[in-house]
Amino acid sequence: MGVLVAKFGGSSVADGIQIRKIRSIVESSADRRFVVVSAPGKRFDEDSKITDLLYLLYSHAEHKVPYEQLLQVIKERFLGMESDLGVDIGLVNEFSEIEEQIKTGTTADYLASRGEHLSAKLIAAFIGYDFIDTKGLVQFDKKGRLLYAETDEALGAELAKHKNAVLPGFYGTLPDGSVKTFTRGGSDITGALVARAAKASTYENWTDVSGFLMADPRIVKSPKAIKTISYKELRELSYMGASVLHENAIYPARLAGIPINIRNTNKPEDEGTIISGDDLNTSGDTITGIAGNKDYTVIGIYKNMMSSEVGFFKRLLAVLEEHNIPVEHLPSGIDTISLVISSKYLEDNLAEVIEDIERKVGSDDIEVSENISLIATVGAHMADRRGTAAELFTALYEAGVNVRMIDQGSSEMNIIVGVETKDFETAIRAIYDKFVGKV
Ligand code: ADP
Ligand code: ASP
Ligand code: MG
Repeated sequence: MGVLVAKFGGSSVADGIQIRKIRSIVESSADRRFVVVSAPGKRFDEDSKITDLLYLLYSHAEHKVPYEQLLQVIKERFLGMESDLGVDIGLVNEFSEIEEQIKTGTTADYLASRGEHLSAKLIAAFIGYDFIDTKGLVQFDKKGRLLYAETDEALGAELAKHKNAVLPGFYGTLPDGSVKTFTRGGSDITGALVARAAKASTYENWTDVSGFLMADPRIVKSPKAIKTISYKELRELSYMGASVLHENAIYPARLAGIPINIRNTNKPEDEGTIISGDDLNTSGDTITGIAGNKDYTVIGIYKNMMSSEVGFFKRLLAVLEEHNIPVEHLPSGIDTISLVISSKYLEDNLAEVIEDIERKVGSDDIEVSENISLIATVGAHMADRRGTAAELFTALYEAGVNVRMIDQGSSEMNIIVGVETKDFETAIRAIYDKFVGKV
């Protein structure tokens, strides 16, 4: 069957019980030669993720607030796992080193990375695999951008030396050797990089749901599972907030043509979702899935004869570039254009940005709508089915949701609507019920 790379997420490595499940999954196929792990996640709802505690630890140290008790909580969680699993990875020394680093002034990335580092060491010892540190293998340039080719080569050369191994997810190194992490959820990216470097036949991503569901299970009750989905559709859904898989984990797998299989550690018998290059949606549903994100601001700009003014858009986008603000969507009409921007980029500078736009493009009117949510309805077959958009807007109308913005992606694989954040959940449920039916 070829090599399988299995990445296990936070809930799959949360304690000894979960790690025993990992062992039995890994042992059930000799092809599962390389394992990538996250830091221990929540064991129950009110529990804390180790990564969150490590970031908190950094804030304490940074602000000179006593941190010893917090460090002790983290240490005890790992010591408990070590003794439960009956292994010895020298945790006392590991924690002395961490404390030493805090005292001499460390970085948030270094501390955050220790969750994955220790988790991988524990699991390697427990399942009898080698431990390979991703330090020096997963490489970033000095601006913090991942170096794909260098990483692929270094990882490939190291993997070739091992029959089996466990690797920590989430981090790598900058050119000066210091630790750099991906954004949150980034162990998925490490898993994809390892799969590519190992020339894996499948990248298995083990989590706490039996695959990708047509909508967020925290919003829609028991959504239908997606059996197969294309990389493109998945990228749209992940980007728009379906948080199962990090959006940047898709690229390396897609480049190498490796299918991704989302599986459930708690129900290994379930087949999960297969993500591949082929458009395999055979479910008969018009749409493949729905996802959304909150916290956008829409800046609506009106200017008479805008469409015939040479250089208008260039001047407008230059203002945003000056403020270092990425624009997510740009729906436009005659004499109007809306900028859809993630609100986090406008926290302290909204007034200044508006003023600059007024000055540089000479707009007649600007209207700002805050608390906007975007919802993407995605499906490779939407374009060839007549009436999809009509059905979607009927669903929202019937649910009493006011649509503030519409953008149909040029790929015709999605329709994005902007709604007020108070209507976010209602809108997702209404779209789901319309296309998939009430459960
Ligand atoms: P891990 O810690 O294993 O990486 P994550 O928490 O990152 O797991 O991702 C799994 C979670 O994603 C699920 O528990 C679920 O709550 C959430 N989720 C959001 N949208 C979806 C979706 N469309 N399908 C399945 N799960 C989803
Ligand atoms: N532990 C990191 C996080 O919580 C990375 C990951 O789990 O993928 O974001
Ligand atoms: Mg995750």
